[in-house]
Formats: sequence, structure tokens, C-alpha cells
Amino acid sequence: MKFLVVGAGFAGAVSARELAEAGHQVLVVDRRDHIGGNAYDVKDSHDILIHQYGPHIFHTNSERIFNYLSQFTQWRPYEHRVRGIVNGKEYPFPINRDTLNQLYDLDLTEQQAAEYFEKVREPRDPVQTSEDVVLNSVGRDLYEKFFLNYTKKQWGLDPSQLKAGVAARIPTRTNTDDRYFTDTYQAMPLQGYTVMFENMLNHPNITVKLSTDYKDLIAQGIEYDHLIYTGPIDTFYDYQFGHLPYRSLRFEHENLNIEQYQSVGTVNYPNDHDFTRITEFKHLTGQQASSTSIVREYPIAEGDPYYPIPRTENEQLFKQYQTLVNAEENVTFVGRLAEYRYYNMDQVVGAALNAVSKILEQK
Ligand code: FAD
Ligand code: UDP
Repeated sequence: MKFLVVGAGFAGAVSARELAEAGHQVLVVDRRDHIGGNAYDVKDSHDILIHQYGPHIFHTNSERIFNYLSQFTQWRPYEHRVRGIVNGKEYPFPINRDTLNQLYDLDLTEQQAAEYFEKVREPRDPVQTSEDVVLNSVGRDLYEKFFLNYTKKQWGLDPSQLKAGVAARIPTRTNTDDRYFTDTYQAMPLQGYTVMFENMLNHPNITVKLSTDYKDLIAQGIEYDHLIYTGPIDTFYDYQFGHLPYRSLRFEHENLNIEQYQSVGTVNYPNDHDFTRITEFKHLTGQQASSTSIVREYPIAEGDPYYPIPRTENEQLFKQYQTLVNAEENVTFVGRLAEYRYYNMDQVVGAALNAVSKILEQK
């Protein structure tokens, strides 16, 4: 069979590879001039490997997904660390016992840290919004110092307007673990994401066409038996129920003529500046060089769609589009934009593997 795959990000590339392995012919089309989707990385003009669309750190608890990707890359072990700036000082983030001790000049043990959270938390039942999540676990002061303004900046919304899942991505710890993630597998593709995607798409049954909108191919009468679509779902249906909100970012990349800019991979600025965070890529990649490259992320309303916005009304609108999806016989929607889900990379890989198994079972 002939498959047309729209998008060369994780959703598209994994789908294409699986279909090609099963003996099908696959054309992958992306309107960007590169593969990798938002995980694309490239050497900048100073020869530093950067992530064009913001920091991408691979982490998963799934052995299956880690092993799957290991066919296409070797790995460099990397545990991401983040600091948050509050009143000009840098604290471990997610909030852990050291954060409490440093912020409030305390000397709490693990047991005392648990008691501290118990004392300051504002119990909420049910926990429905991101405001509920944070107040329920760490109380108002820590909420206001670390979460409230970051969230307003990132989403243009108050935490009370966002579903619980957004803030629930961030744990609270009574120990001194200062890693951002605690997943079993945490690593970066040794030669970068783009090389991993090149290996994934390097198959005799796969053709890749870049700088091309699939709608132009359809207008030209391209023939296929099945379409896999990984772009925004509302665009696919010409916004017939209205626009689904996606949050965008402006990335400000900069190279600095110093060896190291900051202490850890990412520093968050919840309360200062219009950007949310600064990432220094050499921490992520382990690259040695005399200069360093950083990126600042400025959240914006209009622009390339990067984040689905988890709110009840948006999910209702998505459900309307889903009724159209359910009626499709030869189109499959997979990925962060097409499924309107705040997926991490590993979840997209899992979703694509499942989507292709389903197609192969049915055909
Ligand atoms: P995408 O990567 O968006 O790919 C979709 C592709 O479809 C795009 O390349 C697009 O150009 C193409 N396309 C759309 N419409 C058309 C069309 N009409 N014609 C042709 N092509 C089209 N995840 C993690 O696990 N760890 C992280 O640290 C992490 N950090 C992130 C940081 C930022 C700033 C962002 C935005 C995301 C981050 N993610 C992270 C999430 C990760 O980027 C996504 O889960 C993943 O890249 C989504 O893959 P996808 O294939 O679904 O979508
Ligand atoms: N968040 C926050 N303060 C921070 C970091 C995160 O309030 O210093 C909240 C914010 O709402 C953010 C969410 O937690 O959107 C999830 O953070 P994460 O770092 O997982 O976001 P991503 O990397 O996906 O942009």
C-alpha cells in the first residue's frame, strides 16, 4: 500500500519507519525545510549544537520506547537540572527540601520538610485546576514565588484556568533530589536528534519531501491509500468548528563568547522578564567549546503551534473535530498537534507505534 505521512517529527517519522518495515511505500512530507519536527537540532554559526525550537530532553519510563529509539541512535546519559530565580536568587526547581531550606533559611530534615508542606498546603478537593494542584501541595507562598507568574507568562492564563495536568507535570519533593525528571531512562541522542531522525527515515521504502505543504500535493492529485496526519487538527478540517488554541513561542538564540553561561541546563525566570527560561545547550549535549549558545523562550499567542492548551472548553472543541476523525476510513491522526495532547516525545513515539499497529491490523 501507499502511505502519505504529513509531518517529519516524532509522530511522522516513527509511523513512516514502522510502515516501511512492514513493506509499504511511504512518502513523508513536511512544510519545513528539515526533518525532526520540533525536536530538530542543528549546529549554529559558531559550531554549537542547538535545538532550534527550544530545549528537548529525552526521558521515559518505557523500556519499549527507549529500545525502539535505540535502533536509530546511541545515547549520552544526561540528567536535566533546573534552577528557578526568585528575588534575584537561584533555587533548585522542582521545589525540594533544599529549596525550602535555602529560601526560608531553615535546616529541615526530610520528615520536617513533609511536615512543613503539610502545614502550609491549602487542601483542595477535588483537584481540578493547576492552581488547585500547586496550592494543594505547597501552599500560597511557594505558589506565588515559583508558579503563578511563570504560568501566566507561559500560557497567558491564570493557573485556575488550566487543567490540573499542566502543573502536575512538576513534582514536589521532601528529599534533595534536584533532577527535573526521575524517569528510568534519561539520555540525549549521542549525535543529536536530527541524526537520529535521518537514521529513522533512511529506508528504501521511505521518500522524504521537504518544504512542501501536503495540501499542495493533494491539489496536484497525488495518490495514496492511507494518510497519516501529524499537523494541527483544526487546520486539517479548515477550522470548520473554529480555531483550536495552540500556544506559541518566540525563540531568541544567542552565542556568547564565554565557556559557560549558567550553572545548569535551564534556569527559569518565573517573575522577571518576558521570557520564561534560558537554556544553555552545552549542558544538554556535553559539547566542549570555547563559546556557548543559549536560547530564551518568549511565549506568544500567534505563531507556529507548539503547545495545545489544556482547558475544558478547548477539549470540548477538540471533541467536535474528533467526531470527524471517527468517520474517516483512510486517515489516521497522531501526535501532539493532531491529537491536541500535551505529549512528551516518548509519548508521541508510543502513540505512533500504537497507531501503526492498529492500521496494520485493520488492513
Ligand atoms: P511536531 O514535532 O510538531 O511535528 C509535526 C510536523 O508536521 C512539523 O514538522 C510540521 O512542520 C509538519 N506539518 C504540519 N502541518 C503540515 C502541513 N500542512 N504540511 C506538511 N507538514 C506539516 N518533549 C520531551 O519529551 N522533552 C522535552 O524536553 C521537550 N521539550 C519541549 C520544549 C518545547 C519548547 C516544545 C515546544 C516541546 C517540547 N517537547 C518536549 C515536546 C516535543 O516537542 C513533542 O512531544 C514532539 O516533538 C511532538 O512530535 P510530533 O511529531 O507530534 O509534532
Ligand atoms: N511551571 C511553573 N514554574 C516553573 C516551571 C513550570 O509554574 O518554574 C508550570 C508552568 O505552568 C508550566 C508547567 O509547570 O507550563 C509545566 O512545566 P514544564 O517545564 O514541564 O513545561 P514545558 O517544558 O513543557 O514547557
